[in-house]
Amino acid sequence: MSDFLRTLTSRAVTAAAALALTAAPALAQGLVRDTEIEMVMREYTDPLLEAADLDTRSVDLYLVGNMEFNAFVTQGQNVFLHTGLIIRAQNPGEIKGVIAHEVGHIELAHLARLQDAARGGMATMMATMGIGLIAAIAGAPDAGAAIMASAPQFASLDMAQYTRGQEASADQAAVRLLTATGQSGRGLVTTFERLAYQERLSFARRWEYFRSHPLSADRVAALRRNVEASPYVDVTDTPEEIATLERLQAKIIGFMVPPYQTFERFPLSDTSIPARYARSVAYFKDGQLEEAESEIAHLLEAEPDNPFFYELLAQVRFESGAIEASIAPSERAVELMPEAPLLQIYLARALIAQGEEDNVRSAIRHLNRALIFEQHNAFGWFQKSLAHQALGETAEAELATAERYYAIGDERQAHIFARRAHDELERGTEAWIRSAEIIAVTQPTDREVRQWNRAERERRPNFLTQP
Ligand SMILES: [Zn+2]
Repeated sequence: MSDFLRTLTSRAVTAAAALALTAAPALAQGLVRDTEIEMVMREYTDPLLEAADLDTRSVDLYLVGNMEFNAFVTQGQNVFLHTGLIIRAQNPGEIKGVIAHEVGHIELAHLARLQDAARGGMATMMATMGIGLIAAIAGAPDAGAAIMASAPQFASLDMAQYTRGQEASADQAAVRLLTATGQSGRGLVTTFERLAYQERLSFARRWEYFRSHPLSADRVAALRRNVEASPYVDVTDTPEEIATLERLQAKIIGFMVPPYQTFERFPLSDTSIPARYARSVAYFKDGQLEEAESEIAHLLEAEPDNPFFYELLAQVRFESGAIEASIAPSERAVELMPEAPLLQIYLARALIAQGEEDNVRSAIRHLNRALIFEQHNAFGWFQKSLAHQALGETAEAELATAERYYAIGDERQAHIFARRAHDELERGTEAWIRSAEIIAVTQPTDREVRQWNRAERERRPNFLTQP
């Protein structure tokens, strides 16, 4: 969860304002990563994608750290879920309903006309948001993990404005997909009704969500009829699913609202797991490290094999400077959940920061495994470049830097670093081949070369006359 923290603490005040249901200002927002939340959202989403005959591997899911209610899809089959959607849901069925509606838009190709412009996949996304990202990496290396993006950059995405006809057919698709997976569509109806009620109650509030997904009384009535006709209309979420969602909500609150609000919402008298989870994060943000560790100790007493509690403990220690002490819990998290690449990347960060050669080598092994699944993780590539640098392996460090730039869509820098690495790497090695690949796919056109040279001359006006 470290990404949430570092990038969102400064925004917590605005986030809290949204949470308190005041009129929402234009919120700063960024993509955030969290293994625990991502896993649950994938569990909600994948069955719906399968029911729609879509390939789960080709549809990417992103979390936006923003307390406004919103969910949207963009070209290249990317689904974006606001943390505000998760936090405002009264049960898992509400989130699943909203996701089913978005999957409906993908299934019905409502974004098809935008596909031509897309180069596809995350590279396009990253290129769109590249400036924020590069600034983030340059200014605060750790922040790179969060793939930061500012609101204007998000606005430059092709946000669909669906027609009422498209909305009706996406609603129908949602009910069909939920029914095909044995689930009820009631969550979608209650979500729409509640949001519409809140809009009416406060004239200042206009949900971004309804600007792209126009809502009308007719639409809700039709949706309700459709939902009530499903044989699964009365299916409810299991107690386990509800407990899991409560935990995610507590975690998001802990990270995204000011500590005093978290303590108000989860007073000490509440010794439930969600309450302790939220409080441990709030104590940590508030600099009360002993209290944070004490709450986490209670959590681990209740669930000794929970990787996310170890992840949090490692984060509390690492970010408060206790690097050495953060390694054991981080290793335990990886041990408990070896298939989660983000946990490995965080462990690698601690091992590299600790600095002993054995640890740095171990970090590289973890990164090599993790980056297979996290090819676009600029923070992971950045860590890999640091590790190789620490070992004096300059060419490998340059290759990792080329990968980092490639991941964020900066083809020019990727090309430059890949060439440097290629010249120095041993011929025929895997790394050498990879550097050649990056060089090939980032090969500039003649026009781009001229543009780059022009930019270079402007940056260094005398470079032609100087040796
Ligand atoms: Zn819609």
